[in-house]
Amino acid sequence: MDAAACIGCGACVAACPNASAMLFTSAKVAHLGLLPQGQPERDTRALKMVAQMDEEGFGSCTNHFECEAACPKEISVEWIARLYRDYMRATLTGPADTGRGEGGVG
Ligand code: SF4
Repeated sequence: MDAAACIGCGACVAACPNASAMLFTSAKVAHLGLLPQGQPERDTRALKMVAQMDEEGFGSCTNHFECEAACPKEISVEWIARLYRDYMRATLTGPADTGRGEGGVG
């Protein structure tokens, strides 16, 4: 299902044994990052959303895939892989002032 279909219900977080918000975060980062008007802030968005996820204490993804099974919109865990790619690219090429804390993806 398209990342834009995410309704932010939180079922993925509730289903995850790590209380990870990776599926939700990846869907939002992908949705906005795929829009032409979302390109200018694509790297900064990926860094800041991951930093916020970490700051709020959500767990890391360890590939249980319970999120995908619970998602009413059938958001694929493949979006998490895309988030990893966006995050890695942003850490290598993104702006210095990202608001990024000590945490990170994983
Ligand atoms: S369960 Fe699916 S629709 Fe709900 S917040 Fe997670 S990714 Fe979005």
